[in-house]
Amino acid sequence: MALSARAALARHGDGSFSIEDIHVDAPLGAELLIEVKAVGLCQSNAHLAGMDLGLPAPLLLGHEVAGVVLSTGNQACGFTAGDHVLAALIQYCAQCALCLSGQEYRCANRPSTLRTAGQAPRASCKDQPVMQMFGTGGFSQYTLVHANQAVRIPEELPFAQAAVMACSTLTGAGAVFNSAQVAQGQSVAVIGAGGIGLNAINAAQIAGASKIIAVDLSDEKLELAREFGATHTINGGSGDAVAKVQEITGGGVDHSFEMISLQATSLQAVRMTRVGGDAYLVGLHKPGAQLPLDAMSDIIGPQRSLHGIYMGSSSPQRDVPKYTEHYLAGRLKLDALVARELHISQINEGFAAMKAGQGVARSVITDFS
Ligand SMILES: [Zn+2]
Ligand SMILES: [Zn+2]
Repeated sequence: MALSARAALARHGDGSFSIEDIHVDAPLGAELLIEVKAVGLCQSNAHLAGMDLGLPAPLLLGHEVAGVVLSTGNQACGFTAGDHVLAALIQYCAQCALCLSGQEYRCANRPSTLRTAGQAPRASCKDQPVMQMFGTGGFSQYTLVHANQAVRIPEELPFAQAAVMACSTLTGAGAVFNSAQVAQGQSVAVIGAGGIGLNAINAAQIAGASKIIAVDLSDEKLELAREFGATHTINGGSGDAVAKVQEITGGGVDHSFEMISLQATSLQAVRMTRVGGDAYLVGLHKPGAQLPLDAMSDIIGPQRSLHGIYMGSSSPQRDVPKYTEHYLAGRLKLDALVARELHISQINEGFAAMKAGQGVARSVITDFS
């Protein structure tokens, strides 16, 4: 079953998207053909659409996907038509040594989830191939996704919340539960209280952290951070955030998380941890970004560790069911993260509003009609 689909394509390298009809191929091998019911406007899409990535245009972005399986390839085990699924950007082969040791987020063979050069493209527009970024391609009414990137979800989980879970929760909550393994009674600082930061704060509360300190420049976001479980908030614009964290905790936090991809806040993340503490860089920095740490006084003397992490060290098949239970029990506050539901034709204004800082939480496209 090949289909015509309404999609938002990145064609001009200026961060804008154009609404066009594309052709989505029938599923092959382990692929699922998904009718997209919700796709999140993660800001990284606008960054990628505004960069020269050296890839042939147009690009099909959108990596926070939730929808319904329409049909499957003959090797897509465990899925049938009608299943509700979410699809995440963690591409993994399930066969390499890292995958087999539960580290799918470190897979050494990610391209094995994609079609080969000799095969028809998954998506095309006027006979030109359309490149699906991260193998998800959610800014489209229909998309093809490798089964390893999809997880079945129960029908009680709304599609918009599932879409947010596919990126913000896997990344933010995963950083706390998987990468840091925050234990009951430990202290945590989260720099950046956007969608990913709020999920990290929420997860730290679920994990039983004693002090959960949110750092941001926006009082509005800090207020929301309290609703998600922050016990202390610091506006980084008024005074020295490191000194304040040291004061609140009597020497520094056990774990700090940097979500906003800046040099200054990454250095702060290191310096606000205690002796023997751990700092985690979650946000993706620009290529070439430097971190001028003092080897002796920042790292070796205080015996600190600095970790670069990807997608919350998540194993989606293991983690999504846990997050779904937390959501359905009212512990994971995804409803408050879905700020606006949009028609696909509103994608550019949705990104513009996010850039202008309107609405702390996510806008999600839920209408392709
Ligand atoms: Zn994202
Ligand atoms: Zn692998």
